[in-house]
Amino acid sequence: MSKRRKSIVRRSKTPNSPGAPLSTPLSTSVMYHFQSIEQQISVMDKEVQGFTYARYANPNSTILADKLSWLEDAKGGILTASGMAALSCVFLALLEKGDTIAASSQLYGQSLKMLTKMLPRMGFETKFFNSSDPSTFDEAITSKTKIIFVEIVSNPVLRLTYFKELVEVAKKSSAVILVDNTFSTPLGFKPLNHGATLVMQSVTKILSGHSDLNLGYIGTNDSKILKDIDELISNFGFNSSPFNSWLAERGLHTFELRFEKAQENAGKLAKILNNHPKIVKVNYPGLSSHPEHELAKEMLNGNFGTMVSFVLKGDYTNINNFVKAAKDIPYGPTLGDVATTMIVPSLSSHRHLSEEERLELGIEDTLVRISVGIESFDIIRDDLLDALQEA
Ligand SMILES: *Cc1c(COP(=O)(O)O)cnc(C)c1O
Repeated sequence: MSKRRKSIVRRSKTPNSPGAPLSTPLSTSVMYHFQSIEQQISVMDKEVQGFTYARYANPNSTILADKLSWLEDAKGGILTASGMAALSCVFLALLEKGDTIAASSQLYGQSLKMLTKMLPRMGFETKFFNSSDPSTFDEAITSKTKIIFVEIVSNPVLRLTYFKELVEVAKKSSAVILVDNTFSTPLGFKPLNHGATLVMQSVTKILSGHSDLNLGYIGTNDSKILKDIDELISNFGFNSSPFNSWLAERGLHTFELRFEKAQENAGKLAKILNNHPKIVKVNYPGLSSHPEHELAKEMLNGNFGTMVSFVLKGDYTNINNFVKAAKDIPYGPTLGDVATTMIVPSLSSHRHLSEEERLELGIEDTLVRISVGIESFDIIRDDLLDALQEA
């Protein structure tokens, strides 16, 4: 018989009964009660698998975490209340007095804020490097570096990280590599198979896909680190809710289908926008004009992703006209929804940076980031081309 292959659309058997439910039941209970004290102790000591109290673990989050771990090729994983909670947990569980962080300067806006404003108050400093320029790695990574933090495909200009080179330089320290894999998704890249110790996801985005919940995920093959993070989550209360996990599992069943369709749309859109007279520049790793196109081909296995960003000709007036004209494309923060959405990063996620800092990251005033959805391609194309006429 051939080896059984797993699929995220196949449900787990819970509860175990001769006629088990096909869809995962929602288990909202905070308390799990026992027939005896011995039974309670054996579950608390993890000798027997089971649940005790919802802040420690709950069935819906465990089922979802197992599915995500399977997608990321992680031996173990855990859910948190949001993507930012996942990052907080990693930093708070791993860092000790005197430790420093080395991080890419191209990160999600709130991650940059955590590293530059929040963690320094607790004594944790970050040295930044340019993840698309390996010559900058050596200076940022020192013997004091405990965590190296990158995204594979950066937000919002979609530059690629030279990951192999980073793993090499990291060897001179005892630092662990943490990857925010939200943009690349496990279909594009599985960091744990390439030298990362920790992978993190904002499950809020494309994995759940319907913009109706916040959740984060942390996966690792290191059982000691997982245990430390698990304890911190339970103690600090960064835990996920059963309902959000249940909802996210439902969304995850269509993740692969949604990703493939949205990615196909994104590739077509990038090509069309690339030749448009009102557009200065298009960022998409699948375009041969992208500075790391060859690296993207090698790293992402043909999965260039569902995000496209471009610089519009002109200034604030043009961008404002464009956003107003694209009435059917929701404008606002978040990404990875089933529908196409857009945002202007210089006026939202990266607003807290100075103009100089923004331009250094390639975030021009008129940069538009499109999170491409799964609508028929013609609809997306017509809406955007019509709006460009008004820009
Ligand atoms: C949204 C996002 C986060 C934060 O996730 P939340 O679930 O909103 O807390 C982190 N990293 C990236 C790349 C994101 O897009």
